[in-house]
Amino acid sequence: MHVFKFGGASIKSAKEVKNATAIISVHKDRPLMIVVSAMGKTTNALEQLTEYFFQGKKDSSIILFNEIKRYHIEIAMELCDDKNCELVTSLEQKFSLLENVLNDTPGNNYDFEYDRIVSFGEELSAMIIGYYLNESSIPNRWFNAKDIIITDARYRDANVYWDKTFEAVENLLLPFFNSHTKEALHPIAITQGFIGGTITGYVTTLGREGSDYTAAVLAYVLNAYEVCIWKDVPGLLNADPKIAEQTNLLPNISYQEAIELAYYGAKVIHPKTLKPLLNKNIPLRVKSFYDPDEEGTLINDNKKLDKLTPSYIFKSNQVMLSISPKDFSFIAEKNLSIIFSEFAKHNIRINMMQNSAISFSVCFDFDKIKTPSLINDLERIFRVESLYDKELLTIRHYRNANLHPFIKNRKVILEQKTCDTLQLLVKKQE
Ligand code: ASP
Repeated sequence: MHVFKFGGASIKSAKEVKNATAIISVHKDRPLMIVVSAMGKTTNALEQLTEYFFQGKKDSSIILFNEIKRYHIEIAMELCDDKNCELVTSLEQKFSLLENVLNDTPGNNYDFEYDRIVSFGEELSAMIIGYYLNESSIPNRWFNAKDIIITDARYRDANVYWDKTFEAVENLLLPFFNSHTKEALHPIAITQGFIGGTITGYVTTLGREGSDYTAAVLAYVLNAYEVCIWKDVPGLLNADPKIAEQTNLLPNISYQEAIELAYYGAKVIHPKTLKPLLNKNIPLRVKSFYDPDEEGTLINDNKKLDKLTPSYIFKSNQVMLSISPKDFSFIAEKNLSIIFSEFAKHNIRINMMQNSAISFSVCFDFDKIKTPSLINDLERIFRVESLYDKELLTIRHYRNANLHPFIKNRKVILEQKTCDTLQLLVKKQE
């Protein structure tokens, strides 16, 4: 059993869907679990749609809804060779359901509504890919992720209930895979990445870019031989090619190193993905869907090459808060525990922190909703100074690193070093 995950870019148009189908067709000599993301930038569009819905911006919401619909229907028509096909009818029905949601009055729980709307992206892509595989004589069956990845009700960032997920997979997926063992064709199942469902059947999402994690969860539960993430890059690179002029492919790194890179914000793999794979020693390959014959990057238990290449991770849109007590107390355990519990309450992950006797500096990703609400709560107890729009550069194995291209025209405002990792919070020079 192999688990294949196709990200948004790898299925962003009819041409890419055909390419993904060709890749699957080459690998249909083994049971396959296919996990798909929403097509192209659909999740961003659906996030925007959720905001319009919440703000009651009806006109903007209709325009955007129609754009998302047109995008999917056009891909479907191209895959159906423009003839009237049942895929278009099914997509239209799905869009009517989304329209019904948008015609409702939003409840108070933004994250709940977000999951209801944003989850449509993956469902639409699973429908399109499932259909086209069938058309290409690759029979497959769709399993709704909501029924197999069982989570808590922490909408927008749900946690997997492993026992329940095992049970669901045993009841739904395994009979499908087992029923095929005597047949010539190997079974192919398809499901949405990033999506889960509560015990009571409400849809949840696992956090942005969470489809990789879905692939890992399913690989773990199904005891897969290997997971392959198909991407628009040749594999794991030591820097984001959108930012760095020069990048190197990392041919093989350990799970631990990949976990560190993802933790510091390397965008290639969702941070939660590696742990389930590490626990069962399931290798993860990151491969290019443009060059499927290339080896890409292999992530496994081999640590030998980890320190050879410096990796650069760049995060923009950082907020830095300097928090100090209003009274004469120091930043000691009691104040720190209050500060950390506020971060936990608002579900904000800290990217870097430093403390002195009277002030605690902390940096994290800006979020339109969570950041003001955190600051508001902190200000009840502390004096809070905030700086916006900063950038965080993390370098793993920095000894032979070339920092210049990353920090030229920038001023370092906070620096931290361990033996393996250097972090710099910087701001652009005016
Ligand atoms: N479609 C979701 C996102 O863009 C999940 C994923 O692609 O992994 O965040």
